Amino acid sequence: MSNLELLPINIAGEWRLGGGGESTTLYPATGEVVGRLRAPSLEDVEEAIQKADHAFRTSGWAQKKPHERAAVLHRVAQLIRERAEPLAQLQRLDNGKPIKETRMLVASAATFQFFAAACETMEETITPSRGDFMTMSVYEPMGVVAAITPWNSPIASEAQKLAPALAAGNAVVVKPAEATPLLALELAKICEEAGVPKGLVSVLPGRGSVIGDAITKHPLVKRVSFTGGTSTGKHIAHIAADKMMPVSLELGGKSATMVLADADIDHAVNGVLYGIFSSSGESCIAGSRLFVARSLHAEFMQRLTAKAAALQVGDPADERTQMGPLITAKHRESIESYVALGLSEGGRLLTGGQRPEGAQFERGYYYRPTIIDGVKNDWQICQQEIFGPVLVAMPFDNEDDLLAQANDSVYALAAGIWTRDYKSAWRIGRAVQAGTVWINTYKQFSISTPFGGWRDSGLGREKGRLGIQQYMEQKSMYWGLNESPIAWAN
Ligand code: NAP
Repeated sequence: MSNLELLPINIAGEWRLGGGGESTTLYPATGEVVGRLRAPSLEDVEEAIQKADHAFRTSGWAQKKPHERAAVLHRVAQLIRERAEPLAQLQRLDNGKPIKETRMLVASAATFQFFAAACETMEETITPSRGDFMTMSVYEPMGVVAAITPWNSPIASEAQKLAPALAAGNAVVVKPAEATPLLALELAKICEEAGVPKGLVSVLPGRGSVIGDAITKHPLVKRVSFTGGTSTGKHIAHIAADKMMPVSLELGGKSATMVLADADIDHAVNGVLYGIFSSSGESCIAGSRLFVARSLHAEFMQRLTAKAAALQVGDPADERTQMGPLITAKHRESIESYVALGLSEGGRLLTGGQRPEGAQFERGYYYRPTIIDGVKNDWQICQQEIFGPVLVAMPFDNEDDLLAQANDSVYALAAGIWTRDYKSAWRIGRAVQAGTVWINTYKQFSISTPFGGWRDSGLGREKGRLGIQQYMEQKSMYWGLNESPIAWAN
């Protein structure tokens, strides 16, 4: 066992060891322990939520003028920028993504700046009155809200929830994945330094089925913003239904990437590779189902396979690395069993399908970029989310055939279209069922554009200027203007 010091966690602004069992976070590239902490106990959860509720009611945060709250959020964004490199390096250790990617994730955490602006400029409306009164629609903060996040994009996922929730005036209990607690703890320190009142932010990095469950069920928690797997999301939705609590659920995907016969092949090859193999495929929006026009299929697959085989898999600290290790040994085993399943179903392995060889790969959870074709869309390997570097590829004959296959999935998170014909792009883009559609690009993001999935890919939207209102309750106000008493009672 490592002799690293145990890290304190944040229980309503108090930094101390949790009352639960010890947990460790490992560097996926080597299996070394990079952080040790004691998870929160259920008593810690209770204390954090009670104190968060107290801080919400008494700290004055919710009552601050929007520009005053915005000023604090701007300081959070500034501190993230000042510490970008150490944060990116910590993220690399926490979840093994290549340093180039963790730098991008940290940069995206400056989301606080966007929600500072949203907070300062959010308008409440006077609605057209239909009587002798004036009508308004206003928004109130909710109280204590929870942010439950997965291990694949720490800091970005947490910031995406914490920023709008704080901007809206709430207290926030963050439950990062047990496997990647370090960045959420750093973010809580930054919030504290920037002037977010004590008690308003807690970070409770414990097991989801225990700590996440207790947070979700707690009567003082008024909303849960969840990102993670679909089965966990459905479980949370059931709890939310019992509590009549709003939730947003950002869930899994099996996104279709469609390459039409007239596509610019160089662009499409690079876009498809980036869409599936960046983040080692551990991405909800990974373009993991590829459909290529039959006339182009053979040539396209050949070029794609050659480039996939040449991708730089290796040390996440190396600037040239394109694919780092997977998050855990167990997750790699799950990917290996999916590949075995796909091959047993009759798929043809074009590249990958194994761990890379060499001394530098021995201790990490590496897996080669893998492409399987000769599959059918209704096979399990095409229907289930693998969440790793595995692409399944199929030809299509015409637009109807393409759309029928692309839309035949329980998931509907994202889609990509590669074509030179804007009319085809428009038709397919409108007809494909997905929360986000990329045309001649893939996996690009803007905080100003709402994000979320249809069907089993989720419920609700994050991001966008109105994302702040997801963390508020809407209220209608009627102001009587009549000079005489309401006539009915005369
Ligand atoms: P997960 O197992 O559902 O876990 C997500 C989070 O929920 C973790 O913090 C987890 O805690 C916690 N959790 C687990 N069981 C819980 C419960 N009963 N109650 C409350 N919280 C609970 O998902 P994952 O394996 O970490 O992440 C991968 C999944 O996330 C994939 O399906 C991926 O597509 C999806 N994802 C979606 C998006 C999106 O925006 N749509 C973005 C990223 C990832 P512990 O892990 O600590 O147990």
